[in-house]
Amino acid sequence: EISDITSDQIAQGRRAHELDREHVFHSWQAQGPFNPMTVLKTEGSYVWDGEGNKLIDLSSQLVNTNVGHQHPKVVAAIVEQAGKIATIAPQHVNDARSEAARLIASHTPGDLDKIFFTNGGADAVEHAVRMARLHTGKHKVLSAYRSYHGGTHLAVNITGDPRRFASDAGADGIVHFFPAYPYRSYFGAATEAEETERALKHLEDLIILEGAGNIAALILESIPGTAGIYVPPAGYMAGVRELTRKYGIVYIADEVMAGFGRSGEWFAVNHWDITPDLLTFAKGVNSGYVPLGGVAISQEIFETFRERVYPGGLTYSGHPLACAAAVATIKAMEDEDLVANAKRLGDEIIGPRLAQFKADHPSVGDVRGTGVFWAIELVVNRETREPLAAYGGSSPEMNQVIAAARAAGLLPFANFNRLHVVPAMNIPDEVLIEALDKLEQALLVADGFVK
Ligand code: PMP
Repeated sequence: EISDITSDQIAQGRRAHELDREHVFHSWQAQGPFNPMTVLKTEGSYVWDGEGNKLIDLSSQLVNTNVGHQHPKVVAAIVEQAGKIATIAPQHVNDARSEAARLIASHTPGDLDKIFFTNGGADAVEHAVRMARLHTGKHKVLSAYRSYHGGTHLAVNITGDPRRFASDAGADGIVHFFPAYPYRSYFGAATEAEETERALKHLEDLIILEGAGNIAALILESIPGTAGIYVPPAGYMAGVRELTRKYGIVYIADEVMAGFGRSGEWFAVNHWDITPDLLTFAKGVNSGYVPLGGVAISQEIFETFRERVYPGGLTYSGHPLACAAAVATIKAMEDEDLVANAKRLGDEIIGPRLAQFKADHPSVGDVRGTGVFWAIELVVNRETREPLAAYGGSSPEMNQVIAAARAAGLLPFANFNRLHVVPAMNIPDEVLIEALDKLEQALLVADGFVK
């Protein structure tokens, strides 16, 4: 569908693409063959590509634009703030930051009422780990295989997916454990209850063998996102919380992707009524309109730094433009009841449709999720569960599925053998339904690879 885009804009986009290939060094890519998509315009649930094609954004730009593109109130708040105080060093009070911290603390669980601001998710993870190490006087950090915690040195080493191999031998003191992942159980579990029991037994054994007295923190995505939106089975998260209490380990909930309403709750830990010691956030906090992340800190850990200097900081911590965007985003979520809407979209539209996909398409191995946070796992054989692309890799077949989604008018978020259904929390019902119809066309292509 060509709309709203002039030939001048398309020409400008082509020039931008040439300059990009000449001067821009891209994340996670071999620079030579990479042919990035140009975006000429974004609005609501849509993006327009370099040829002027209007695509439904089912990716939320790395699961980020929780209130959609160009939300008028968030844009206006940034413009207004820029006219007042565009930047200020972090040691000074600014009203945007104070109000953002108040609003964030009003939604975080339990007593996580002190907010340290960062520029994004990876540095939030780095600081949460530093706080835990200083608080406990211990060093080791436990994290899950099949996780993603960021691209900086420590964060990528904490990450469980193969992207960390590039920085091996990296940060010391990080130990990975196998998470509960019922569809591809590491424990040979046949049921979710068995998976929970065995995964918790594995984790406790690992804590004992690593020496509880040496472990500062356990970091876990409340619902692992990039690694496949595999919602933990009943009892697992409560069990993890219990183990961290039992062994005096700081529990860091990484909610960079799952937080701020995406799962149909303000924070995903709310699904299990648990309160971590530290919670990392970014992305949805301000819909990514200006880079922002942070750590929400419990009273107990805050007390460690009441008299003792916290050794860490960032020039842009609590940046007024980012915080003004956060204030406007959180208010929009409240005023427009978007968290409840995300839950409704998951319960009434995405969940049932994905279940139908699983019934109708032999390439669909597993579907799972909550709110506007879902994944479809594509396989070439349902019995063996052989993935359409290996974990940590891509395949020509998977690339064809992604191309089919694009050709149908969709911008999907695809990762390894998965298609993620992660639209904005305010995507109109009829647009979401249309997007899922388009997605089904890509599944027909995937069905062709089933053997
Ligand atoms: N933690 C999680 C759970 C994430 O999903 C991400 C980003 N996908 C990060 C941390 C890193 O965030 P950033 O890219 O903002 O550094």
